[in-house]
Amino acid sequence: MLADIEQIGRNPRTGGYRRDAWSSADMELREWFTHQAAKRGLTSHEDRNGNLWAWWGDPSRQGPGLVTGSHLDSVREGGAFDGPLGVASAFEAIDLLRGDGFEPDRPIAVACFTDEEGARFGVPCIGSRLLTGVLDPDRARGLRDDQGHSLGEVLTARGREPGRLGRDDETLSHVGVFVELHVEQGRALEAPVGVASAIWPHGRWRFDFRGTADHAGTTAFENRDDPMLAYAHAVLAARTQAEAHGVRATFGKVRVEPNNANAIPSLVTAWLDARGPETEAVRSLVAELAAGAEVTEESWTPEVTFDEVLRLRVACVAGLDGHPAPILPTAAGHDAGILASAGVPTAMLFVRNPTGVSHAPGEFAEPRDCVSGVIALAAVLADLTGGGA
Ligand SMILES: [Zn+2]
Repeated sequence: MLADIEQIGRNPRTGGYRRDAWSSADMELREWFTHQAAKRGLTSHEDRNGNLWAWWGDPSRQGPGLVTGSHLDSVREGGAFDGPLGVASAFEAIDLLRGDGFEPDRPIAVACFTDEEGARFGVPCIGSRLLTGVLDPDRARGLRDDQGHSLGEVLTARGREPGRLGRDDETLSHVGVFVELHVEQGRALEAPVGVASAIWPHGRWRFDFRGTADHAGTTAFENRDDPMLAYAHAVLAARTQAEAHGVRATFGKVRVEPNNANAIPSLVTAWLDARGPETEAVRSLVAELAAGAEVTEESWTPEVTFDEVLRLRVACVAGLDGHPAPILPTAAGHDAGILASAGVPTAMLFVRNPTGVSHAPGEFAEPRDCVSGVIALAAVLADLTGGGA
């Protein structure tokens, strides 16, 4: 299934993917999702916030179901597994259950959440945040991409109705349990399949360093007001202070105005991603770095601890060799975290990543580990929807 979509949004020079939300690559992936659903006789639809659902059974008649899935968008120059592995594995797990003649005692759905990475509009997990009401629809509609197009304009251009964005109680009421399978994004997992214990608290902040544009040659140093220096200090401080606080901090995106090689900039805008096991430590770090800049919090996700009873049950079922699957925390954000915070019983399965590389073209999982992931996911679905496979 991943081979079906391996050319979509791929940069042939680097092998990296660019699958921004609502880009033509994303539209093609959405069509692929709908086609996969139709091929299996699943009932698919797009909710008011742009998330896709494919149901085996009818939750409005039979009550809330078990939902599995992930996302199909990517970070810029991302890998092939982050997101799509969870969606493809969900369809494959259903195929496996049906092949065994399994009849679930409640509906099962495959979900694909829109704009999980936030590559285009800056806020991650836009689809699940809108669905659960933690992202204000007015703020969402006004978010702008690098070309200056707002999410509202982009949705209209794609034939959607931005006026309908916002908390969607009807759709949420169909989600009894959510299980997301995802490629592991570090090297912490030694078994083929693991289970998540918690997601670190994390956020994104926009730093605006203001200065005065002037000539790079004729302006004496004492007459300069150069925001690039303040930015450079912040980058170095982020590293040293993050190590001191035991958290991770990264400036990964920067925009310079007017962006001339021979001029002092007037404005440097940079985005800080910070996360760690302790909320207080992350907050202190951001406060310390804020001196000399205007800082805007673009997103914040509190720590998520997955339901303990559910995760132990999932670990027992997902352990394929008679031992429970290992349970480990993750430093990466996921839609599963947003749903868990909204009170949906949620669990995550991780598939081993031999190099630990993620959000880059080198992201990889061995095919046999991906198959183990599908088998584990199918076992979890069968366990949680009664019957017994
Ligand atoms: Zn992901």
